[in-house]
Amino acid sequence: MNMPAFPDSAHPISWPEGKQAAASFTFDVDAESCTIAHDPQCTRRMSLMTHQSYGPKVAVPRLLQILDRQDIRATFFVPGFTAESYPDTVRRIVDGGHEVAHHGYLHEPMQGIDAATEARYLDRGLEALAKAAGVEPVGYRAPWWELNWHSAALLADRGFLYDSSLLDGDAPYRFSVAPGDSRDLVEIPVDWALDDWEQYAFYPGVTGSGVIESPVKVLELWTLEAEAHHAAGSCFVLTNHPFISGRPSKAVALERLMERVRFMDGMWVTTLEQIAEHTRSSVTEIHSHARIEVPSFPDTGAVFTPAAVREGVSRLAQR
Ligand SMILES: [Zn+2]
Repeated sequence: MNMPAFPDSAHPISWPEGKQAAASFTFDVDAESCTIAHDPQCTRRMSLMTHQSYGPKVAVPRLLQILDRQDIRATFFVPGFTAESYPDTVRRIVDGGHEVAHHGYLHEPMQGIDAATEARYLDRGLEALAKAAGVEPVGYRAPWWELNWHSAALLADRGFLYDSSLLDGDAPYRFSVAPGDSRDLVEIPVDWALDDWEQYAFYPGVTGSGVIESPVKVLELWTLEAEAHHAAGSCFVLTNHPFISGRPSKAVALERLMERVRFMDGMWVTTLEQIAEHTRSSVTEIHSHARIEVPSFPDTGAVFTPAAVREGVSRLAQR
């Protein structure tokens, strides 16, 4: 089947000589941090901690083997706490020729935090990556992909090249870090359909829909996404968590996907750092993100929850 081409016309880009689209396999090595940051009591749950430590202990070595066999360089986003807990794992990632990038210190919840607090998380994460493996990251992905309006300027202050947490494009672009600020960052957008969390994540009392999807279905979903990006000349960015997608059958499906993607004609499979460098050197347009101001309107602030809707519907039914 030939995919029709529907390019992202808001973010035009041309790829290096001989390439027609780009793809990157990224791994967020959250391990225990994403559970502890939301509830420190989680550390009391031995089984939950092992579910998370499976990532750096078992899954990362397996994924590194797969990446090596597929001759793919990937990007690993590593929270500082993971780097402190598993420095050998981080060094193995670096030794494998992969990119290590920043993913917070303890995978902190980012909604509503002020710039000074966020700066502390960033600096503590930087220190941990430097200490564990001498890494000076150029890329950042906010925990839960939750960037704040002040985040980009903090990243530019620290010399970052790119972010990969926003959801408003199919291709990378440059954006101004703040109104009136001449500095810019590269954004490499992501998509919840290309995150293994939504497909497979389940742990009682912690997360998940209760459905652990079949890797066959996930392989089909992600293959179609990759084919559509390939046809459109845009950028396929897959986000996987080792403690989820590094489990046996999911890892097998992921390797099949890698094989399919790297043999797509003219597909540039590389790290986000390489894609960001290419974007900065070849794209001249600088986008800006305008912060939304809530319009003054009588109905803003109305309570509109599923429970409220159900209640309204049953009231109507009683009339
Ligand atoms: Zn994460």
